Amino acid sequence: MMPRLSFLQLGLAALVLLATQGQAADLPKLKALIIDGQNNHSWKTTSPILKAAMEASGRFTVDVATSPGKGPELANFKPNFKAYDVLVSNYNGDDWAPETRQAFEDFVRNGGGFVSVHAADNSFPGWLEYNKMIAVGGWGNRSDKNGPMLRWRDGQVQRDATGGHGTHGKYFSFAVETRAPQHPIMQGLPAKWLHAKDELYATLCGPAENTTVLATAQSDVTHENEPMLMVINYGKGRVFHTTLGHADESMKDVGFVTTLNRGAEWVATGKVTIPVPANFPTADALSVWTPPAK
Ligand code: ZN
Repeated sequence: MMPRLSFLQLGLAALVLLATQGQAADLPKLKALIIDGQNNHSWKTTSPILKAAMEASGRFTVDVATSPGKGPELANFKPNFKAYDVLVSNYNGDDWAPETRQAFEDFVRNGGGFVSVHAADNSFPGWLEYNKMIAVGGWGNRSDKNGPMLRWRDGQVQRDATGGHGTHGKYFSFAVETRAPQHPIMQGLPAKWLHAKDELYATLCGPAENTTVLATAQSDVTHENEPMLMVINYGKGRVFHTTLGHADESMKDVGFVTTLNRGAEWVATGKVTIPVPANFPTADALSVWTPPAK
């Protein structure tokens, strides 16, 4: 026999149900586009992890735009950036056609969100506007001529013009430290947490304008506190730059996934609703991210 519930009881039950659902699930999904196709890293392995991680948050629908490989076909690579709220680059390769580069610049300058993942900050060394969007980058003959390095020293970010270029040391697990705890992406994260095996990028350099360093890690090469997570304002747009994510193992990490998703939401909307999960890593313990079963 059905229990007899009053309208008041039903109403209360509905309120409790609403309150216990994740905020992200109640909001319209944001449209994300992952860009890949050329990279000196295994984009065929890592793009599916980025996609699964973003979809698992419940906040994004995710498409992938895969460019042709090296060759003249790249001239026809023209994704419809404007159809999306946030672009996520897993691309490190040949220059896009001028029209595609212009469309990308316009997208971000007019308020679109952009997320640069790991070696995406190696790409396009000669494209000034791109380098402004990522703040600092490495390799591709980058040097102090591109701008300073950003280092966390004495409790603040210092610009260091003594010669950046981009480097990393061994592939290892290291601690990431929060440097902007009040930023929406970082609120609720621990002051320090262990990250899965990865390359710790160091000596990145670039225009470094309108940049907030959110988190750093101490390099095994320079022994400086190098920027790991950054946000950049570019025109009306916002950029989240994570230097993390060398390999699948580096991405299957609750710290990587949580900051990726919160960063992507913030660049798309200026707000963060995606929660910090209870199994976020700590200063002493790693936390492996497992893709949900399909
Ligand atoms: Zn790498």
